[in-house]
Amino acid sequence: MQGMSRHQAPAAGPFAIRSACERITAAAERTAAVGPWASGSMAALAEHGLMAAFIPAEHGGSGADEPGRLATLAAVASSCLTTALAFSQWAAAVRIIAAGDPSVRATLLPSLARGAKFTTVGLSNLTTSRQHLGRPALVANLDGRGWRLDGLCPWVTGADSSDTIVTGAATDDGSLFFVVPTTAAGMVVEAPLEMLALSGSRTSAVRFTGVQPAFVITPQGSNATRTGGLATTALALGSARSAIALVAAEANRRPDLAAIAAGLTSDLEPLEHRLLAAGLEGIALEDRDRLRGEATSLVLRAGQAALTAAKGAGFVRGHPAERLVRESLFFLVWSCPQSVTAAMLCEFAGVD
Ligand SMILES: Cc1cc2nc3c(=O)[nH]c(=O)nc-3n(C[C@H](O)[C@H](O)[C@H](O)COP(=O)(O)OP(=O)(O)OC[C@H]3O[C@@H](n4cnc5c(N)ncnc54)[C@H](O)[C@@H]3O)c2cc1C
Repeated sequence: MQGMSRHQAPAAGPFAIRSACERITAAAERTAAVGPWASGSMAALAEHGLMAAFIPAEHGGSGADEPGRLATLAAVASSCLTTALAFSQWAAAVRIIAAGDPSVRATLLPSLARGAKFTTVGLSNLTTSRQHLGRPALVANLDGRGWRLDGLCPWVTGADSSDTIVTGAATDDGSLFFVVPTTAAGMVVEAPLEMLALSGSRTSAVRFTGVQPAFVITPQGSNATRTGGLATTALALGSARSAIALVAAEANRRPDLAAIAAGLTSDLEPLEHRLLAAGLEGIALEDRDRLRGEATSLVLRAGQAALTAAKGAGFVRGHPAERLVRESLFFLVWSCPQSVTAAMLCEFAGVD
């Protein structure tokens, strides 16, 4: 685990975000190979105070507001989507821990704010994954010695690079969140998956056999684990912005592309505005899903526009266009609300 020096993390302002993103961009190639933990990109987020921005001031953070956090995630996604994915899963775990009781907060949050420890989530077993099987993928049972977890988290980004996993498991009367150390007896982290894109996120399945969690957290509200949160839209828009920048760069040499870059930008900016407004004022679930759907559609179109503009050169492995187009497909399968999946399938099939 790449630890960081113990220092008071500064609040993340625009300069800190820019400096962190420069480091993350410079490390992107290495991140794709070894992951953002080993490449130093997660350390860059911590050292520039971007992690602290997600953590309340009383626990060593700087407690940025929701629009600030969303803008940070989008900026990181424009620099390196692998790092942004790891950061978003870290942030999802932190959000759950921050809703825990005072002892879990005080124990875990200060070292997460400093980047001295890393965490991640394995929650898809409660939301999207394996729902059709009719039985929970991960169950929690209470015995005389406390809670025991048995089953599978099919998708855990950075499981082999994190100190803890925040997961959710079915109980006899609902579900609970659990914080589990990755060194816990009975936990097996499988080898990271080789994927179409983002293999550097070191996403793996994690198996649990009688695993004893370190902390239990009661979910707050019925939307605690809903798919398609605003963070997923922030990543889609950040990635779309970097694809549009590629089209704009080509347009410098080929003026016929200027209208294409302008058209995509005019789609992007209102979505960014709606995202930040949603962070500030809140958003109804139906509108949140609609926003995610439009962001998913844009990131796919922007990636393909970048590839088309780059022509054959963009099709060669290592060109940013081929990477962006592969990465855009991630948004079709990651934390995708059912209404968005259904709309995308209808669009592909040309049916209403
Ligand atoms: C790169 C990446 C990183 C991720 N990281 C995380 C993470 O850190 N934490 C996390 O919680 N989640 C993570 N996810 C999970 C993600 O949010 C979704 O939950 C996941 O992509 C859903 O896909 P699934 O294969 O699990 O879906 P499932 O619904 O389980 O589908 C699996 C297969 O089952 C079959 N199937 C599906 N529905 C039916 C049906 N109704 N009847 C019969 N067969 C069916 C299909 O053949 C399908 O291919 C990640 C995903 C990706 C791609």
